[in-house]
Amino acid sequence: MKAPKDQHFLVDKNAVERIAGLVRVEGRVVLEIGPGTGVLTRALLSRGAYVRAIELDNGLFSYLQEEFAGETASGKLMLVRGDATKCEFPAFDIVISNLPYSASSKITFRLLAQGFETAVLMFQSEFAERMLAPVGTPECGRLSVMVQTYACVERCFELSPKSFSPPPQVRSMVVKIHPRGPIFPIHDRQLYADVVRALFSHRRKTSRNCLKGSSGMLDRTMVDHLLSVIPGEILSSRPEELYLEDFATITNMGAEFRDRGNSSACR
Ligand code: SAM
Repeated sequence: MKAPKDQHFLVDKNAVERIAGLVRVEGRVVLEIGPGTGVLTRALLSRGAYVRAIELDNGLFSYLQEEFAGETASGKLMLVRGDATKCEFPAFDIVISNLPYSASSKITFRLLAQGFETAVLMFQSEFAERMLAPVGTPECGRLSVMVQTYACVERCFELSPKSFSPPPQVRSMVVKIHPRGPIFPIHDRQLYADVVRALFSHRRKTSRNCLKGSSGMLDRTMVDHLLSVIPGEILSSRPEELYLEDFATITNMGAEFRDRGNSSACR
C-alpha cells in the first residue's frame, strides 16, 4: 500500500493497543478520522466498537474497503470517503484517532463544536503541549484557551518517531479530552471565539492594543465600549496573562452592549 505524502503510519503494535484501550469502547460508536491502513480500526473493532471512519485518500479508502469488506457488510464498520475538515461527521459517541497533523487544529475545533463524550487523539507533541499549557502562562495561546474553556485535557503518553513508518521528525503525544460546560458563563459562544481570536492575533501586545487592532474581527462600536468599561488590570495585561474568567468577562460585556442594540453594522 503506497502511503500518501507527509503521513506517518503507526507500526508499533503496543502503542496501537494502548490507544485503543484508553477508553472502554465495547458497544459504543467510535469515530476514527484518518484510518490509514486500518491498524487502529482493527484494534477498535476487536474490542467490540462500532467504527465510523473518515478517510481522505482515495487509494487508502479503496484498500480499506477491500480489507474490511466483512466488517462493513455486517455494519460494524462504516467507511466514509471525505475530508474531515469539511464533511459532516456521522453520529458517534467517542472519537479515537491518530489525526493528520496538518489538519489537527481545524479538526479539533470542529469536534469540540459538534460535541462528544470522550476523545483520544494523537497530535504532534508540540501541538498537544500548547493545548495543555495552563491559561494565564506564557506558553498558552488561542488553542489552550478555546480547548480548556470547553474541556479538560489529560496527557496520556508520548511516542517516539520509531513507532511510525516512515518515522516523522517530531515526537507525538496521545491526549484524552473530556468536554464539560464552561466554568464561567459565556453569553455568546461565537463572540467568545471572536474575542479570543482577536486577542491572540497580537499576543505580545496588551489586551487594550489587541482590541484596538481588532478591526475585521470585532464590531468597532462594541470595541470602543469595551475599552471604556473593561477593568484596567485586564486591559493592561497581555492575552497570555489573562484567565478564563477574563475572556468570559470581556465577551459578556460585549454581548450585553450589542444586545442593547448598540453595535454598528460594520466591523
Ligand atoms: N490512523 C492511521 C495510523 O495510525 O497509522 C493513519 C494516521 S495518518 C497520520 C493520517 C491519516 O489521515 C492518513 O490516512 C491520511 O490519508 C488521512 N487524512 C489526511 N487528511 C485528512 C482529512 N482532512 N480528512 C480525513 N482523513 C485525512
